[in-house]
Amino acid sequence: MGEKIINLVDQRLAGTPPVIPADAPPPSGRLLDRRGRRLRDLRISVTDRCNFRCVYCMPKTVFGRDFQFIPHEQLLTLEEIARVARIFVAHGVNKIRLTGGEPLLRRNIEGLVAMLAQIPGIELTLTTNGSLLPKKAQALKDAGLQRVTVSLDSLDDAVFRAMNDVDFPVAKVLEGIEAAAAAGLTPVKVNMVVKRGTNDASIVPMARHFKGSGHIVRFIEFMDVGTSNGWKLDEVVPSAEVVRMIDAEMPLEPVEPNYSGEVAERWRYRDGTGEIGVISSVTQAFCSTCTRMRMSTEGKLYTCLFASEGHDLRALLRSGRSDEEIAAAIGLVWNNRNDRYSEIRTAETAALKKVEMSYIGG
Ligand code: SAM
Ligand code: SF4
Ligand code: SF4
Repeated sequence: MGEKIINLVDQRLAGTPPVIPADAPPPSGRLLDRRGRRLRDLRISVTDRCNFRCVYCMPKTVFGRDFQFIPHEQLLTLEEIARVARIFVAHGVNKIRLTGGEPLLRRNIEGLVAMLAQIPGIELTLTTNGSLLPKKAQALKDAGLQRVTVSLDSLDDAVFRAMNDVDFPVAKVLEGIEAAAAAGLTPVKVNMVVKRGTNDASIVPMARHFKGSGHIVRFIEFMDVGTSNGWKLDEVVPSAEVVRMIDAEMPLEPVEPNYSGEVAERWRYRDGTGEIGVISSVTQAFCSTCTRMRMSTEGKLYTCLFASEGHDLRALLRSGRSDEEIAAAIGLVWNNRNDRYSEIRTAETAALKKVEMSYIGG
């Protein structure tokens, strides 16, 4: 096969693409990036397609009828995904999240879950819009999935239908959440992206509805991911405001994080009826503890949600490289990582070319 130059390091960081040295040692033990952060989480996008057109993620003006999604042969196969996952876990990853696009649209997603569930010692979760959970929750659980996060932006049917922009009703997502809970994919987390002027009136009703249910609602600040969602800073509702609004009706107190680097800041109801989380990537950046690598549907590695370029792992997978060589490539990408987008975000950076959320997953 000979030595082939493969673009492994973000052009913005390195200028010229490095060659994977034939004798690059596979990483052993913990991998650290240039800011001393460990590689611990892998988010795998299994499809770039979705049956929703959420206005903040896949606006119809961009993701319309003519939009060209990635052709099937360019997607990593389920076996390729499982192989990469095993290599990542051998080098320190202990948490894998399947995402997309809508991951439950990927054919035989249960088969992938079953393969990943064989890897010892990992936490295996999935983020979904919930539309297919009534059909698939039990099969996912049986295959070895541990938990799900379900996105739901409002309990007000008109607001939710307008936000998903395909007229999908709240009741069906609630059915999906209950199917997940009944299957034991618990605790179910419920993600709500908050956009000022769109669904901020839904914050308190959402907290009220799930209080005492065992499900954990997480309020996410609207982010400037990609280049197509028309993000404006004044549409971001700071998490501090979300906490104040809920606390005024249902008193809250802070909870210690489960582990260092946890993305959601946790709060619990003082009356002991559960907890909520807030994810403040705009008003309180958490880059300094970010341990996440993302892999796109076609096998590109992204070291940041706001990156513009990925590193092509598929070329390596399909050119007969050994697990050690793949591991060396992953090590090189992580060791060169210097991202901290949320810490340096401005109106100017928001306008930079960035990969779309539906392509690399949330
Ligand atoms: N389709 C699945 C879903 O919606 O749960 C998984 C993929 S989706 C890209 C993952 C998460 O990203 C969802 O919870 C979604 O609400 C969130 N998300 C998408 N665009 C966002 C944005 N602009 N700001 C904040 N969160 C966003
Ligand atoms: Fe689809 Fe999820 Fe994006 Fe909504 S947030 S358009 S459900 S990928
Ligand atoms: Fe991690 Fe990038 Fe988000 Fe910072 S902006 S927390 S580096 S994904």
